Amino acid sequence: MRIVLFGPPGAGKGTQARRLVEELGLRHISTGDLLRAAVAKHTPLGRQAESYMKAGRLVPGRIVEGLAEEAMAAAGCDRFILDGYPRTVQQARWLDAFLRRQQAPLDAVISLDVTDEVIVARLSKRRTHRITGRTYHLDYDPPPRSIDPTLIVQRPDDRPDAIRHRLEVYHARTKAVEGYYRRQGLLHVVDGDAAVDVVFGRILKVIERAVVQPMT
Ligand code: ADP
Ligand code: ADP
Repeated sequence: MRIVLFGPPGAGKGTQARRLVEELGLRHISTGDLLRAAVAKHTPLGRQAESYMKAGRLVPGRIVEGLAEEAMAAAGCDRFILDGYPRTVQQARWLDAFLRRQQAPLDAVISLDVTDEVIVARLSKRRTHRITGRTYHLDYDPPPRSIDPTLIVQRPDDRPDAIRHRLEVYHARTKAVEGYYRRQGLLHVVDGDAAVDVVFGRILKVIERAVVQPMT
């Protein structure tokens, strides 16, 4: 099972991917998480990516492709959810070519549909665990009191300027990826503006239909 979880920044991709990992045992491949880990370790790749990420700009494709390829290969090119990749039509083409070579086509692209207004409300109150990367929301999913509060931080790109820029990048470059997959018959749009559990139920339904019992 190979799934892409698609959507604007803050749509809930990471939150839902975590649930899917628990429910279906899939491997979660988040290019954002992989990039943040590289930045934290000060690897050469991380140093190249850092300034792009802080500003909410897309990191050059060749950097992200290397990370995505390594993670997919480590998963045996099966049973994974891609989160935050692909983010441009060019990346989607690269992914197609890579998976074709592995004879491992995508099963479904699930796009979480959320308005810009909701995104701003979610991202401005998103907080992230510095070590595990798990995300929280100050109102909807507050970090438990048992966690050392100094470990709960706001991502530098979750501040108003960077949020605005990331939304612009999404509309200018990323949204077109939907059309790319729609033309391949792989796209499933899910309304992401509901409680986490409700959205999760919607995603599971899509997976049941599209992946477990593909329509003939
Ligand atoms: P993405 O990975 O798409 O950027 P996240 O999963 O990190 O998004 O979610 C962004 C923020 O919104 C987080 O603070 C998360 O706790 C919160 N969130 C996610 N899904 C929902 C939801 N269905 N309702 C309310 N808040 C949500
Ligand atoms: P979100 O979904 O909340 O916007 P991510 O954690 O997926 O955030 O990504 C954070 C940042 O990492 C992006 O704003 C971008 O700078 C970089 N990034 C992640 N994935 C990609 C990608 N596929 N292509 C280019 N840059 C990426």
